[in-house]
Amino acid sequence: MSQARILVVGAGFAGSVTARVLAEAGCCVTVLDKRPHVGGNAYDTHDEHGVLVHPYGPHIFHTNSDKVFRWLSRFTEWRPYEHRVLASVKGQLLPIPINRTTLNRLYGLNLDEAGAAAYLEKVRVPVDPIKTSEDAVLSSVGPDLCDLFFRGYTRKQWGLELGQLSAGVVARIPTRTNDDDRYFTDTHQCMPKHGYTRMFENILDHPFVRVVTGVDDDGYAKNHREPPLHTVYTGPIDVYFGMRFGPLPYRSIRFEHVHLPDVSQHQPVGTVNYPNDYDFTRITEFKHITGQQTGAGTSIVREYPQDAGDPYYPVPRPENEVLYRRYRQLADALPNVTFVGRLAQYRYYNMDQVVATGMHAARKILASLRV
Ligand code: FAD
Ligand code: UDP
Repeated sequence: MSQARILVVGAGFAGSVTARVLAEAGCCVTVLDKRPHVGGNAYDTHDEHGVLVHPYGPHIFHTNSDKVFRWLSRFTEWRPYEHRVLASVKGQLLPIPINRTTLNRLYGLNLDEAGAAAYLEKVRVPVDPIKTSEDAVLSSVGPDLCDLFFRGYTRKQWGLELGQLSAGVVARIPTRTNDDDRYFTDTHQCMPKHGYTRMFENILDHPFVRVVTGVDDDGYAKNHREPPLHTVYTGPIDVYFGMRFGPLPYRSIRFEHVHLPDVSQHQPVGTVNYPNDYDFTRITEFKHITGQQTGAGTSIVREYPQDAGDPYYPVPRPENEVLYRRYRQLADALPNVTFVGRLAQYRYYNMDQVVATGMHAARKILASLRV
């Protein structure tokens, strides 16, 4: 195959993975990002106090896909890490996902596993069919636990009621009757040993990949005088089409990063959720996650969800899916452009899912170029 010129817009997981697979197949790839760095939202960097932080919010890697894990392992070593989250409810820090410990400590009970299952069976309010996140929560834990752990958090996070969001949003959080207090149960749970940014630099370190960061909106034209054979676009799909059907809602977040110089540990686990108090949803303390030994001093981030700002979350609800489908139709009519990633596919994807979609997208592009 003669060297196909490919333009990749966005240097996050979607763009970087696609670029690497295409380059290894012999394509000549230019990756552009308007941010001054690679990694997209998974970018990490040392703050001015030397603590490795995630400027765009805490990113914990977890996957059940051996294939994704194996592929990324070419570009990083790993540090084992299992994330734990506590929710601040009624003056206590209780495990979330809700488990046996949560029930016993919240209600002053002494349930064993069968007792916890029976308790939930008694309080749950089955809804059939389950359509919204409210249906999903009520069906698994009933109204009281719903109000204490989910209603307020969801209102803050999305600016919407539980009943206005698709069931898949809260279905991310399981309910347990045992004492497992891990946030995720995936077979692979770990952090890139030297950080995400180093991993991205390694992914993009290929003789056929050229990376240009800090491009302006004119980036295409300036960096690619000849039109590419194929474009991979990983930004918001509605922006690509000039929002001609109106803007697709994305939820943003203001991240308040704070360094506490005299505190060696701010909280007992990586993340504490605040479903009912404050304007922020959660506080994450980075050194739990990265394993960095910082001695005195620790860095935390508070997350304040908002509408305005960089698009971070697609908002999963039926009317948004309808609007997305209209943009998708336009996208499908462009054989030389591939839309991939969380913003371009308007999907609430975790990192590993984006890696898988990037690999898939690259294979499809290669197949189309060989025709
Ligand atoms: P992005 O990372 O958004 O990358 C897209 C890139 O495209 C951006 O860098 C952007 O600057 C660039 N771009 C867009 N438009 C243009 C343009 N016109 N020109 C040039 N460049 C452009 N996932 C997990 O698995 N575990 C977690 O713990 C986790 N935590 C998260 C916490 C938060 C607060 C958020 C917001 C997300 C979290 N995620 C987590 C999800 C994870 O961030 C995404 O799945 C993944 O990073 C998406 O990769 P992407 O390449 O699709 O998008
Ligand atoms: N959620 C909640 N209370 C919690 C944790 C999560 O209500 O303590 C709901 C909320 O709607 C949130 C969704 O579950 O947006 C998904 O949570 P997750 O932690 O997966 O969100 P992310 O890490 O993607 O922001």
